[in-house]
Amino acid sequence: MNKPKMTTEKGVPSNSRVLMLLGQLERLNREAMLADAEIGRQITAKILHLIQTQEKTRKEIMSKGSSGMEVILATLENTQDLQTILNILYILNELLTVGGGRRVGVFVSKGGTGILLQLVLSGSKESLPSEELMLQLHSLLAKVGPKDRKFGVKARLNGALNVTVNLLKQNLQNHKLLLPCLQVLRVYSSNSVNAVSLGKNGVLELMFKIIGPYSKKNTSLLKVSLDTLGALLKSKTNARRAVDRAHVPVLLYIYQDWHRNDTRHRHMLIRKGVLGCLKNITNIKLGRKAFIDADGMRILYNTSTECLPVRTLDPLINTSSLIMRKCFPKNRLPLPTIKSVFHHQLPHVPAGGPVAQLYNQPLGVDDVVDESDDNDDVETENDTENEEEDKDHHARNDDIETDINKLRPKETNSRPFEELKIYERFFLELSEDFQRFNFDNPKSGVTATPAAPKSQRPIIVPTAQALPPKYPTAAPLQEECHLAKGEQPHPEASPLAPAPTPAPVHTLDTINITKDHDGCCDHSQVRPQPGLEQELVQGMERVALEGTGPQGGAGGGGVNRHYRQPPLLAGGVAAQQGGGAEETLAEEWAEEEGGEGAVLEVPDTALLLPLHDPDLYVEMVKSTRSVPQYSEVAYPDYFGHVAPTFREHILERVYGVQSPLPPYRTKIFQDIERLIHPNDILDKVVYDLDIQSCPVIDDGESLKFNSQFESGNLRKAIQARKFEYDLVLNSDINSNHYHQWFYFEVSGMRVGAPYRFNIINCEKSNSQFNYGMQVLMYSVQEAISGRPRWVRTGTDICYYKNHFSRSSIAAGGQKGKSYYTMTFSMTFNHKDDVCYFAYHYPYTYSTLKMHLQKLEALRTPQIYMRQDILCETLGGNSCPLLTITAMPESTSNDQICQFRNRPLVFLSSRVHPGETNASWVMKGTLEFLMGSSPLAHSLREAYIFKIVPMLNPDGVVNGNHRCSLSGEDLNRQWQSPSPELHPTIYHTKSLLQYLAAIQRAPLVFCDYHGHSRKKNVFMYGCSLKETVWQTNISATSCELHEDLGYRTLPKILSQTAPAFSMASCSFVVERSKEATARVVVWREIGVQRSYTMESTLCGCDQGKYKGLQIGTRELEEMGAQFCVALLRLKRLTSPLELRNHAHLLDVESDLIETRCKVSSSSPSTYVLEDEEHSFMEEVDYSAESGDEPDNDPDAADPHDNRLSDSESNNHRDSLT
Ligand SMILES: [Zn+2]
Repeated sequence: MNKPKMTTEKGVPSNSRVLMLLGQLERLNREAMLADAEIGRQITAKILHLIQTQEKTRKEIMSKGSSGMEVILATLENTQDLQTILNILYILNELLTVGGGRRVGVFVSKGGTGILLQLVLSGSKESLPSEELMLQLHSLLAKVGPKDRKFGVKARLNGALNVTVNLLKQNLQNHKLLLPCLQVLRVYSSNSVNAVSLGKNGVLELMFKIIGPYSKKNTSLLKVSLDTLGALLKSKTNARRAVDRAHVPVLLYIYQDWHRNDTRHRHMLIRKGVLGCLKNITNIKLGRKAFIDADGMRILYNTSTECLPVRTLDPLINTSSLIMRKCFPKNRLPLPTIKSVFHHQLPHVPAGGPVAQLYNQPLGVDDVVDESDDNDDVETENDTENEEEDKDHHARNDDIETDINKLRPKETNSRPFEELKIYERFFLELSEDFQRFNFDNPKSGVTATPAAPKSQRPIIVPTAQALPPKYPTAAPLQEECHLAKGEQPHPEASPLAPAPTPAPVHTLDTINITKDHDGCCDHSQVRPQPGLEQELVQGMERVALEGTGPQGGAGGGGVNRHYRQPPLLAGGVAAQQGGGAEETLAEEWAEEEGGEGAVLEVPDTALLLPLHDPDLYVEMVKSTRSVPQYSEVAYPDYFGHVAPTFREHILERVYGVQSPLPPYRTKIFQDIERLIHPNDILDKVVYDLDIQSCPVIDDGESLKFNSQFESGNLRKAIQARKFEYDLVLNSDINSNHYHQWFYFEVSGMRVGAPYRFNIINCEKSNSQFNYGMQVLMYSVQEAISGRPRWVRTGTDICYYKNHFSRSSIAAGGQKGKSYYTMTFSMTFNHKDDVCYFAYHYPYTYSTLKMHLQKLEALRTPQIYMRQDILCETLGGNSCPLLTITAMPESTSNDQICQFRNRPLVFLSSRVHPGETNASWVMKGTLEFLMGSSPLAHSLREAYIFKIVPMLNPDGVVNGNHRCSLSGEDLNRQWQSPSPELHPTIYHTKSLLQYLAAIQRAPLVFCDYHGHSRKKNVFMYGCSLKETVWQTNISATSCELHEDLGYRTLPKILSQTAPAFSMASCSFVVERSKEATARVVVWREIGVQRSYTMESTLCGCDQGKYKGLQIGTRELEEMGAQFCVALLRLKRLTSPLELRNHAHLLDVESDLIETRCKVSSSSPSTYVLEDEEHSFMEEVDYSAESGDEPDNDPDAADPHDNRLSDSESNNHRDSLT
């Protein structure tokens, strides 16, 4: 009757001897005959013999379907006979030694571990415990323990921990028994509760008795002891115990001893084991202190340096550098305060607001040393990409909105219509009747009508054409609406502002392209030399705006600082008070200068950059107001940027956490050397905005820095070594953090020298700089040689946590008290160059104003374009609002009706100043919309576009990264924006509220952003259902009605825009985002298609641009493709237009229905695009109309690979 059971496995002979024996054993068990010890002994001895002599018997026992293991374990459990037990332990040792994890897995699954642990305990209770029994038991446990996830807990509950520990204590000289016991102990220790308990039982001391200086004996014992010790030291209690007993110097001594003696590197694992112990001890603050006190930095630094030539010792160097980085004494940033160096007085400071909090902080709150929590450190040391993503993922899961009421449309609370009615003036097109417009001669119709005080006429004169380009703002003819900052607009009190930018209070009234007046200025370093040199020096001469603020003449108080003039800026016009007379004078001056032939060689980019004009740019700068009252213009903004034609690849990842490769390591070691050899450090401040008159150090030994121009950000530069500089960024104004954006100028470089730059106060825990992103550099020498462009540059780029930190109070109690270093290396190619570095392609507010002027010049009679000023910002800059659509073809009722009833598309951008990519995408959108292509024309006929291209001009102007002048993130203010503190948001939201009130809520709302941690371009949208599914709240989600149309636009984009990735899109509503534009416009305005479009700062990892860093060309293309996608969306959403394409409607409703089904059947599905039909491919513009334009490259290149053949055919059928 046993036989069938024993022979289920194919190929195992039923007459196998071992199976027969097992059968007998089973019978013994069943019949409780084990009392007869002799029989059991005999059978088990025979089985053992067979196993030891015949390999096949092991297979027979362990084969699938065999109950051999059960029989053996049952015998082990039942027998009282020591010899039988030993026989079985021998059998098991034989069986489990080979066969890999599977056999052990079978053993564990049959409860073998518990039986062994039980035997350990009962064995220990014998008056004379059998050493052989303990040896065999521990050998087996050492094998199975690591494979049993619950081993630690089982051992503790069984009471086996102490048995093993006592055994060890009694057998320190018995190496045969010691090894398996240590191996088991090692497994016990990996359980954190066990570790604490073992520590209390003196196991740390026990381990220190075993480990010791270099010796060729018993190295395996040593290795296991070190592993065990390392595991025990993960417990903070144990680490503290080790520090208290002065074990840190001991470990360092042992490490050095092995390092010295293990010359042939045969015991790398032992050395690594010692480092592992140090690594864990230094997770606690006391441990770090003990390490420093014991001269640990120098010891590990020196040993690591000696290890550098031996490749196989990399793991030692890596662990050493990890420990050294961790122990590097924490320090505060080299700044008087981390508060922004500039302060802007707010109209009022809300008591509980961030600014009040910031300025109410006690003095010296920045003073920090190491107050980090021990656990913090452990976590943040593992800054791997995956972990970061995991964190993100978890954070997002925690962050998902679970309150269903916050996901439903906000019903009431809308403002009374009377209050909103004043915004009517921004929507003249909705009531325009064009009665006075001359359609036969549209141009004359436009220009003939003088500006009326309260005109309904929306048509504007293209000022850029009508006026000399240099003075575009002098006599503007266009109508504008202008809400003063903080003011509730009143219809009757709406004098239309006279200029696109209001007359500034203080005028930067002269522009001077100056010449270096030889001799009158002491600039020996740049003395003009003959020939080419002279040309270059002339080329370097700066564009400067000399000017003063209103208080400028009053003797330069604290606010009105006098900035040093960069050395190349010479012979400037003396500062003048604003005023007509001086202005004329200044013009003459400028002309004179020009007449002398000292004109800057401006690259001729007119053909390549139709929207750029250096003179116009300077004009624009004059009316731009910055808190620091900048008076200089940066060359890149003046010359413009022509995107390079070569490809800029994402840098290959140069290091990983597992194996940091030399560049990264070299940098870390250079950092550590500062502590080891402090005398080698120059520590010379070469640029410092905190000092009223920033000293110009021009000794030829240091680089010169400058950031005092629009969008500039660099607070301080310290020369650490001859070619190494530490750079500190400025906080956003009225804040003490949010720094990431940088933009600064460097000059005085030596050609070919290996410069290293470290930005030492980065805040994010990880960065795309670790994943192939490079910084941007603009060389003036290159520019005047005909290559005016930003290029991706820098080598050995890495981003890591450094030793600077701030107090948690200063950080507002938030995490991230440590700062991070972004470092890059750079060699300059040109002598006497002026180079600029930036986080991303700069795009200033003045650039926007210039582009808008140039765009206006593109207006044709077919284009309806209006520029209004939505409001004024806190800093006194105006916030432009654009309206673009197509003129009606005639004044016929039909035409006017169609004109007024076009659906609206509302776009905004650049609420976050550091996300300059958003502006480049917006530029692409605007250029497309103003274009002459048939597609652009169709688009204008399809929609009325309302665009706020820069929601945060002040942040952009002042080089902020995230905030406005109120020190707040404007994209967190949409729920209740303050008209005083957040005027641009307040009035933009009002526009949308007005539209909702007149039943004209936009079809699409999209706010353009940049993303610093992800690749590609993607969208965030809002979906009730997808949010509910993510939270797993048991809402009756299928009853929630939701149109799935919100997915259509991103889906179209994923098929038309090469940089766009559907896989990165998300439609979940997060709690932390409830006050963002996207969520508020969705919920309060009721716009179903409300999006944030995020463009990468780094590059793409899919599609046509896979492996490339993103450039302005790709960003602008994205903006244009967004327009194309809107046209496709129109064809899918407008029944009127689709009268002849009814089947398209069917397709979309098919899609929606399918999605509903898919969704409700698998509510946990987050991203559904894999399941959906790629129906859109066939709904190609070219397929349905004959006017396919050239500038839709992807239309001709459908992504066929995304369609399976059958799908593709189906859709083709459905469309033909
Ligand atoms: Zn953003």
